[in-house]
Amino acid sequence: MNRHSKFCDQCGNRIPVDGSYPKLCEGGHPIYPNPTPIAVLLVPVQSDGKFGILTGIRGHEPGKGLPGLPGGFMDDTAEGETFAGAAVRELREETGLIVNEENLIHHYEFANPVRSQVLIFYRLSYPLDLDVDFSVGPCEVSDECTALEVAWGPQQLSFGSHTEALRLWFQDRRTYGPLFQAP
Ligand SMILES: [Zn+2]
Repeated sequence: MNRHSKFCDQCGNRIPVDGSYPKLCEGGHPIYPNPTPIAVLLVPVQSDGKFGILTGIRGHEPGKGLPGLPGGFMDDTAEGETFAGAAVRELREETGLIVNEENLIHHYEFANPVRSQVLIFYRLSYPLDLDVDFSVGPCEVSDECTALEVAWGPQQLSFGSHTEALRLWFQDRRTYGPLFQAP
């Protein structure tokens, strides 16, 4: 449960609004302010010697209509799902693209106490080819993402943390040269 939970997930009883942690629900269970983890993935794309990052136009709020990075909440029913595994699954669900979590590199982390969320960003270690890898209409499997776009440089995305992760990717490319490893 996070800071904004109103009811205990063990017994369903109300959690008092005031008080310090650990609070006790009305059923007597200790309540801790644990933020919700979110996994996000930067997928490099290449075309004609240019490199960019894959974004999807969000199909629902928050950020509806704006480009965002693929990602989302972790799924406890996906047995043994890791942070990187969640990033891979969200990419598949939102775009139809399949990548291996062994090819993910830790990129950036961001805590959002207002929403009680912690975001972990990965980047794929090699670029996909825009002409080859996108030939089979991604985005058809989900309404989470209504269209794919490539950000060819830093730009504003649906969330501030996504914008910063994108900026860092392009900054790192300039600072350290190509970020890619052999797939
Ligand atoms: Zn309880």
